[in-house]
This record gives sequence, structure tokens and C-alpha cells, in this order.
Amino acid sequence: MTRRPDNGNGGGGSGKPLSPATRLVTAGRVPEEQHGFVNTPIYRGSTVLYPNAEKFLHRDAKYTYGTKGTPTTNSLEVAWTELSGATGTVLVPSGLAAIALALLSCLKAGDHLLVPDSVYRPTRNFCDSVLKRFGVETTYYDPLLGGDIASLFKPNTRAVFTEAPGSLSFEMQDIPAIATAAHARDLIVLMDNTWATPLFFPPHARGVDIAIEAGTKYCSGSSDLLLGMVSANDRCWRELRATFDTMAICAGPEDVFLALRGLRTMKVRLEHHQKSALAVARWFASRPEVARVLHPALESDPGHAIWKRDFTGASGLFSIALKPMPDKAAHAFINALTLFGIGASWGGFESLAIPFDCSAFRTATKWTPGGPTIRFHIGLEDVDDLTADLERGFAAMKAIV
Ligand SMILES: *Cc1c(COP(=O)(O)O)cnc(C)c1O
Repeated sequence: MTRRPDNGNGGGGSGKPLSPATRLVTAGRVPEEQHGFVNTPIYRGSTVLYPNAEKFLHRDAKYTYGTKGTPTTNSLEVAWTELSGATGTVLVPSGLAAIALALLSCLKAGDHLLVPDSVYRPTRNFCDSVLKRFGVETTYYDPLLGGDIASLFKPNTRAVFTEAPGSLSFEMQDIPAIATAAHARDLIVLMDNTWATPLFFPPHARGVDIAIEAGTKYCSGSSDLLLGMVSANDRCWRELRATFDTMAICAGPEDVFLALRGLRTMKVRLEHHQKSALAVARWFASRPEVARVLHPALESDPGHAIWKRDFTGASGLFSIALKPMPDKAAHAFINALTLFGIGASWGGFESLAIPFDCSAFRTATKWTPGGPTIRFHIGLEDVDDLTADLERGFAAMKAIV
């Protein structure tokens, strides 16, 4: 007898759809196909053998070749699709590869693309280099435009890229308003949803056609893998899957296995990151050295109302703007920290702090925070230990200012 949870949308069982917390545990696992073992193991393979010539000619099998998927990748694709409310998901070797694939799946030469000025900087680089070379024109827009984005539509506009909150600077975008304006013109809406994950922002239910997440961050949760997810709704799934198959940018089996492991505990980790990050953000807000905390879940944040309306949670990543002071004072603050690593990426169990300055690459808006800016990722350490460390940082800063 097969005992399976009813993962459908109320088609059977109690009639009530399973909550995301339960789906994280059950989705993409079929123990009876794995000799009863709880987890799908790492399948490594290029060749898939067929029982006869006819089946080979027609590729008549669930798995046809290593680049097109294995039971390991299928487990995570099925789980992510269920969690995201998508039609399908593909797994690629990094978050940036996910962004590139998503854009290549829906654009062609002569198209015009809209991208928020607050976008993850390597996305901007991809648009300004590869997309430009292949004849796609990009216009950067003020991330706060909302439905007024329609004023930037041109006859050849094909897609609107979004990211909420903005990278480094945390501007909150009104995704439903942008999606409504874009869909009225039959444009495709893409979103980099790495900050919230589908747990805290269900992208497709909010009007996003193609959603991108860097699994490198919270799905891993341990800074030990690189992975990207691209999920699409009915409208965009066929082209996305076809582009993925054509390019064969497939994720590595160990990384997918580790991501499946991370997925099962993603909700408890994210809730802890959220709680600790909010506590540290509030602590920063009370400090005289800090001009502003950039965190949409803080009541004082300009994006708070939109965050509250559209999101069900916040992750562990936010920034602060210091009062006017020399950069070297901010650097002394960071250098004095012992519990915060200095490095790119985030989403692991460990806390991080990096200096940043958006003014060098913004083109549609002005970045004028007034003083030096620092981005923090709050890990799973004890909050009092973290604020004691940050006190040390402020003491080192005071020695310079
Ligand atoms: C880290 C990140 C990515 C890229 O993920 P990688 O796996 O490091 O390539 C994309 N978007 C956002 C918002 C990110 O923070």
C-alpha cells in the first residue's frame, strides 16, 4: 500500500491544501521509489539506458539524459514548484545563471527590457553586456514607480524585471501594481525573489510570470553550495523549459542534494533569521551613530506598508546608513567585529557585514544616504552576543571619528 500525503490543492483528503510548513517536509519525496529511504539520494549520471531501439528513438522514458534531469533534481524541482505555486521549475548552477536563463528564455533581438535601478548588480552587468550584444535594449527605472511604470513602456517593450526589496538598498517594489500594468500590455514580469524566498513571498500568486531564487542563500542555509531556481507559470513554462534543455545549464548533483537537505529546515531557519535580524535592526535604530536602518519590516521604513501587504515575513538581510563620517570610521567598525565575517553572498548560519556604495552604478535614481552604508546578514548566533560585538565595533569607530 502506498501512503502519500495529499499534496494537491484540496483535491482529496481533508480538502484543505497543505500549509507551506508541511509542504517543505513532504514535497518531492517518494520513499517507495527509493526502497523506503526517507531522502532521494544523489543520482550521478550522463547516459540513461533504454530497454529497446524504439523507446530510444522516441526518448520514451521519464529520464532521458543526465543534463535533462535525474530523480535527485526532480525531487527539488517538484518541491520548489509546489512551494512557489508555479507550473514548473528548473535548477541551474547559480543564482546568476538563473537570472541569465530566465531573461534568455523570454527575450529576443530588438526587444526592450525594464530593470529596477536597485537590481542585484551582476544582473545589471548581464543586461549591459550579453543582452546588449544580442540586441536587447535595457532601461533602468526607479524601483518605487509602481503602476506608473507604464509610462516607460515602448512599442517593443517585452518584459519587466523586478526585485524586492532592492539589493543592498532595500527599496520595496509594488509587485502587484507593476504586474497589473505590465499584463495590460501583455508584457512578461520577472522577479528576483532571493531575499524573501517563496515562503515569505509567493511570487506567482502576486502576478510574477518567471521567478528567480538563488538557492545558494536560504535553501542551502550553510554557505556550502551554489544553486539557482527558475520557476514559471503556465504562460512562460514551456519556453523556460525549452531554453533550459537547449542550453543544458544543469545544476550539480551534490549541490541539489544539499539543497534538498536545507529545504526541509528552511522555515525554522528563516523564522529565526527574521526574529534576530529584526532585534538587531531595532537595536541599530536606537544608536546615535546610525542615521537610518534600511529594513522593510521596520514600521519606520518607507516600504513597510507594501511589505506588510504582500509579504508574510522578512529574512535576515538589511542595511544601515551611518551619520556623516569618514569611510575609514565605518571600516574600523567592520574590522573590529569578531562574529561578523566580511564577504559576499549570505543566507548561511553565520553573520556577515560588508561596506557598500551604490552611487557608482545607479543611473535612474540618486543614491544619497548621507553617510557610509553597511549591509548585514544576521545569522543564527545569539542576539546578545551579536550586539555586544557590534558595541565593540562602535567603540572602534569612536576612536577614529
Ligand atoms: C546572491 C544573489 C544572487 C546570485 O546568486 P549566486 O548563486 O551567488 O549566483 C542573485 N540575486 C540576489 C538578490 C542575490 O542576493
